[in-house]
Amino acid sequence: MNENIAISVRELVSYVYRTGSIDERFQTNTALVEGTAIHQEVQEKYVEGDEKEVFLQYEYQQEGINLTIQGRCDGLLQTPEGPVIDEIKSTARELDEIDDLTHPVYWAQVKGYAFMYAAKENLEKIQVQLTYVQKRTKEKKRLQHEYTYEELAEFMKDTVGEYLSYARILLHIRKQKDKSIPDLAFPFQSYRDGQRKLAGSVYRTIEEKRNLFAQAPTGIGKTISTLFPAIKALLLEDMERIFYLTAKTITRATAEEALLRMKDIGLQLRSVTLTAKDKICFQEETICQPEYCEFADGYYDRINGAVVDILMNETQMTRPVIEQYARKHRVCPFEFSLDLTDVVDVVIGDYNYIYDPRVSLKRLLPDRKKRTALLVDESHNLVERSREMYSAAIHRSAFQAVGEEWHEKDESIQKAAQAVAADLNRLSEFTGREASLDGIPGELEENIERFIAVAEPVLKEDREGDQTKALADLYFESQNFLRILEHVDEHYRYIAQKLENHDFKLKLFCLDPSHVLKETTKAFRSGVFFSATLSPFSYYKEMLGGTNKDYILQLPSPYDSSQIDFTINPLSTRFKSREQTAPDLAKSLSNQVMNHKGNHLFFFSSYQYMEMIYHHFCRLTDVDAVMQEKGMDEDRREDFLSQFSPGGNLVGFAVLGGIFSEGVDLKGDRLNGVAVVGVGLAPRSFEKELIKNYFNGKGRNGYDYAYVYPGMNKVLQAGGRLIRSEDDYGSIQLVDDRFLSKKYQQLLPDDWGNYRILN
Ligand code: SF4
Repeated sequence: MNENIAISVRELVSYVYRTGSIDERFQTNTALVEGTAIHQEVQEKYVEGDEKEVFLQYEYQQEGINLTIQGRCDGLLQTPEGPVIDEIKSTARELDEIDDLTHPVYWAQVKGYAFMYAAKENLEKIQVQLTYVQKRTKEKKRLQHEYTYEELAEFMKDTVGEYLSYARILLHIRKQKDKSIPDLAFPFQSYRDGQRKLAGSVYRTIEEKRNLFAQAPTGIGKTISTLFPAIKALLLEDMERIFYLTAKTITRATAEEALLRMKDIGLQLRSVTLTAKDKICFQEETICQPEYCEFADGYYDRINGAVVDILMNETQMTRPVIEQYARKHRVCPFEFSLDLTDVVDVVIGDYNYIYDPRVSLKRLLPDRKKRTALLVDESHNLVERSREMYSAAIHRSAFQAVGEEWHEKDESIQKAAQAVAADLNRLSEFTGREASLDGIPGELEENIERFIAVAEPVLKEDREGDQTKALADLYFESQNFLRILEHVDEHYRYIAQKLENHDFKLKLFCLDPSHVLKETTKAFRSGVFFSATLSPFSYYKEMLGGTNKDYILQLPSPYDSSQIDFTINPLSTRFKSREQTAPDLAKSLSNQVMNHKGNHLFFFSSYQYMEMIYHHFCRLTDVDAVMQEKGMDEDRREDFLSQFSPGGNLVGFAVLGGIFSEGVDLKGDRLNGVAVVGVGLAPRSFEKELIKNYFNGKGRNGYDYAYVYPGMNKVLQAGGRLIRSEDDYGSIQLVDDRFLSKKYQQLLPDDWGNYRILN
């Protein structure tokens, strides 16, 4: 029986015809107008009788394989000389640098469409056209060729012939996966309370192509309870891939462990973990050009061999595995991992690969997205992260510095940079220390565009040295600013800010990212947003772009409340009271340690407050205590945590909302008690006040949206460090009189409700 495999023309020709090197000079993302907008603009000029986005398909049967080739050509134009297949390509390169030989893959793509159309319409010959659009100038260049049907048929036969050996590998791994999934059992002896419900909800959500917002308590095993059903769902029609998205590297490791556990009991699928480019890069400096980097040089000549090798020999392509094969085949590890996302079943990576407009995977085409489910881990983090992703800023000092540096080398750069600096200077004269502006002058936008236009050719020339580095940084910052500027609407504010070093910053500040999150998620088959702390639920669902069509699930804690000795100490932790309440607070913390032997973590709202109480505490007791330091790297962080050994008696002082208050997994006797000092309110700030006013204007409680809910999330996350499994016991002390107020009482989880008040 023949095997079926479907592939897009684009994937087919890209596999067969890609050659050459990675060269970032030509991928400088000059997309002041994004590719889709450029496509639309060209297509709008088509005349009557022309068609756009024409779906084409052709069935190939060769050597026991049914290959279904599909695609949508950008345009089908009717001309007196006959039909023309048009393919539109936006480019950052100058148009006179482009000729018939520049992009063999593009020509192969348009020939593929032409063949399918000619076969369908029984045409003897047909014309093909590549329409190049220069992204910055929007100028167009059209290159044309005419082919006979025989020529195109020969071309396709050769192309398919080249692809078939790779297709056989893809079929082989697909069969392995399909065979291993039906018998895959849940990889633990039994489901914990709530796990089955969560797993069932995830499966149903993906089956029905909907979204789910799930709050499930700490320690329930959310990773396995979402990944396992999503893997089962891979056998559903039109479901081919899972993106497991995380905010932190540590949670990526948890997802890898879950996959390993399933692999150990027979699962055979391929996964890849994406690591940030600057972390996985093999070079000291990330300069992705063939002259500098041997892993960029000839990348596309060697990548197919690397992909085949890793697919045949590995299932879990974690960072070390990617690095090993990348070195072996001399290919860039970052680009290699991205290429693997096209063929694996599970991709593990940061939120930004899907949600960040700057780095999201442009290779994920709409058809692909519709066959992909998103699992968004610890999704409470996505609210603040997406605010950052959709905000952008420029600084006057950076334009001034580049203007000065290029004074003698290039007058056009000097003038363009100084013009932007002068615009920012004028803006600063009319603003106080911080101000929210109604808009920005049109000439500023034009001057930034001009700066990009003059910087780009210089960067392409690739002059060496620090001056080029500063220019490149500013170039990308400017591009990013303009890209985000396209998103600015009622969900944004322009913020003008005078900085301490006489600098001036102009920021496009996204107050409410819910609409962009909603739009992004909508393009996928399903989105599953889960966390232990989506509280209050309605707030997080709204902020993450949820709608009333989405499923919701709130699971109670599976643990007995007797596992936690829960207390509230109603001391004031407000800034002005801290000195006064410090002795009592230190006493209360030392009592907690005396009454509950073992390791403890105490969380404070700032380093300063933490240090103050640490010194009081050390005067009261001789229990060993360690303090978090600012800017700890991964090794120091691991050292800190490794001191919390089972049966120890150590107290860690740490910062609320910092690296130890979330994503840290100290199971069993490694942690016996937690104290959270304060309600986690961020200091009052200009940006927070803008958020507050914005949500007040929308009829919500702006203060809660800006301060209370994000603060309380930190408290719940820190408290959640304690109970990580059914066998954990310990104490939680919340220190602040506000925890007894009605507002905060409502925000405490049900299983924290059984508390004692300390005197
Ligand atoms: S190894 Fe580093 S410098 Fe070389 S192409 Fe990859 S990311 Fe760029």
